[in-house]
Amino acid sequence: MAEKYAVRNLRLCTKDCLCLYVCPTGATDTENSIIDKTKCIGCGVCAQACPSGAISMVPVQLPPQQPKEEAVMEALRGLIQSKNRAEALAAALPGALSRAVEKSCRLMAEDLCREAGFMLPQSANTKEFLEYIKSYPGIPADQVNALLESLSFHQEEEEKPVERWKCSVCGYIHEGPLPEDFRCPICGQPAEKFVRI
Ligand code: SF4
Ligand code: SF4
Repeated sequence: MAEKYAVRNLRLCTKDCLCLYVCPTGATDTENSIIDKTKCIGCGVCAQACPSGAISMVPVQLPPQQPKEEAVMEALRGLIQSKNRAEALAAALPGALSRAVEKSCRLMAEDLCREAGFMLPQSANTKEFLEYIKSYPGIPADQVNALLESLSFHQEEEEKPVERWKCSVCGYIHEGPLPEDFRCPICGQPAEKFVRI
């Protein structure tokens, strides 16, 4: 099985059909703009030939999402909320500049979501999100189910990062959850003297 497959960015494609001529399997079709993933053998010839840089080679198995500290996640969530508020404010204002600000806030919020891992296909939190929205009114649950079935969530088995705590008095590092009655085995300080690292 190929490790990569070709995808076309329709906004960049100028339909000059070079990809169509060079593809050895007939996977790329400029009539319906689709590159047939089932026919693509991942050779990358189309991406090299495309004068517009419209074709990218995408790995079949995406790399695992990098673990993030809770403080980083919290900051990302705060930023996403602030961009959402700015988008709503701009949407309520008249004029082309407000439309531009509205769109730019949306793009920044989407980028932040990606950074937070929520738009990375195959990540465990994407699966959780899809499961979560299924029951929302107006959401086509059958299509969400089809999407869930089509994605292989290879991070499901991944272990959550281990919590690490440092004793602020002696520097001892404790790994794992920190119970309230925990005491530092080196200097005997209580749990409140530990800071999460
Ligand atoms: S070679 Fe690039 S620009 Fe030309 S049709 Fe294919 S994808 Fe579009
Ligand atoms: S990667 Fe190769 S097989 Fe796939 S669409 Fe491009 S040229 Fe065709």
